[in-house]
Amino acid sequence: AFALVWFRNDLRLADNPALRAALDAGYTPIPVYIHAPDEEGEWTPGAASDAWRHHSLAALDADLRRRGSRLRCFFGPSLATLQTLVAASGAQAVFWNRRYEPALEKRDTRIKQKLRAQGVRAESANAALLFEPWTLQTKQGTPYKVFTPFWRAALADWRLAALEEAPASLPAFDDGPDGVELQALKLAPARDWDRRFWDEWTPGEAGARDALETFTDGALRGYATQRDRPDRVGTSRLSPHLHFGEIAPWRVVHALEARRGEANGQDIDTAIKELGWREFAHYLLHHFPHTPGQNFNPRFNDFDWARVSPLALEAWQHGRTGVPIVDAGMRELWATGWMHNRVRMIVASYLTKHLRYHWGHGARWFWDTLVDADLASNTLGWQWAAGTGADAAPYFRVFNPVTQAEKFDPDGRYIARWVPELAALPVPLRFAPWRDRRALQSLAPGYPLQPVVDLAEGRDGALAAYSKLRG
Ligand code: FAD
Repeated sequence: AFALVWFRNDLRLADNPALRAALDAGYTPIPVYIHAPDEEGEWTPGAASDAWRHHSLAALDADLRRRGSRLRCFFGPSLATLQTLVAASGAQAVFWNRRYEPALEKRDTRIKQKLRAQGVRAESANAALLFEPWTLQTKQGTPYKVFTPFWRAALADWRLAALEEAPASLPAFDDGPDGVELQALKLAPARDWDRRFWDEWTPGEAGARDALETFTDGALRGYATQRDRPDRVGTSRLSPHLHFGEIAPWRVVHALEARRGEANGQDIDTAIKELGWREFAHYLLHHFPHTPGQNFNPRFNDFDWARVSPLALEAWQHGRTGVPIVDAGMRELWATGWMHNRVRMIVASYLTKHLRYHWGHGARWFWDTLVDADLASNTLGWQWAAGTGADAAPYFRVFNPVTQAEKFDPDGRYIARWVPELAALPVPLRFAPWRDRRALQSLAPGYPLQPVVDLAEGRDGALAAYSKLRG
């Protein structure tokens, strides 16, 4: 008997509950991927995300082939494609792992009902989260809106799934339909603007495992303090791997726990807590599905997003604001598809406060350019930074990008790496080059002479707008 195993954001063979369920029930799995971006509602995947997915699917196919199987790719719509495949292959069942984006939750529920109505066994499982969103609630039966009590409740209910290696071999299914070549999905960009990505990243399950090992062997030691330093490799860089499900979050936790005793317990606890923020993001998205497009805190619905200058958004996007730490972050993002978390907070604060653009503009740009673009984490991150979110940084706490840079990039190395035209400036000037116009003109010609908005003015404007909101 055959079963379709419908791969989505669970692009791995180890710790894959849908694949495991198909095998345990005695089915020969037929691995399929269906390209249906328009089913993701307003959030069809962005360009960087597509580029990653292309490589990740190729890696999955290679891993399947090594085991005697292979991946078949199809164009959507998903339901019709699954129905056609069921009919053509004689499959009796369809297994998949759940996604939590509102449009996809709805779609998947409908698909499950339709398949079952046709007499097809349709089952979904959890491959992505330590805690599914409906398993935790306050004593009043409402969803948590604050991280700390959410995480405390989660830790009190801590049951980590056991690890399970990928099957050593898989039964082959050699009949049609064959599907299309991966290339035909056109996920990889036609022009290779993503060239530099692949110096930094190896999409796929093996790449994810390597990243985890590199982290537990290296940056984990000292993570609690070093994670805020963009000038060092102080974090795991697991985010795209986790987003695409190339590694299970519980495998990451097991690997961290295995180092307890060797590494500082605080480093391990902090790393697990960061995974907790990922859980919280998915939790909020499930319970508050309107938040990718609307303020979590409706008080901000009347806020005056004045957009200090029409050109400022483009300057921000391209790393030309004249504020070095902001420009460094935006250029790192453009070049590598990733940005350090501390710098994400700085650039987001700058856009939403100094430049007073609605956070949605930033969220959209990140959506298109991040390889780890994730509707849950991106929404949480932007609403947090803008002050409009659940358990957010208060709006009036405006990050000063100069002091942030001095504190977290003390030698100006991160700035010099991503804004190389500033490398000739003495270190203190790299944080605020407008303080010595002459040096800036002679040593870093071409760099903006002053920020798109003066830092003090931007901050005052933001606070004034905020005080109107209160009044
Ligand atoms: P590590 O520090 O090694 O953390 C380990 C893992 O924990 C990460 O891989 C990630 O899965 C999770 N994690 C850590 N911090 C957070 C957090 N604040 N929120 C949610 N999960 C977290 N993360 C995304 O994965 N996708 C996004 O689209 C995204 N957009 C963001 C937008 C803004 C404005 C901000 C401020 C943050 C955003 N983040 C996003 C969260 C965070 O910046 C990244 O997860 C982190 O930088 C990834 O690097 P890492 O894997 O080395 O993290």
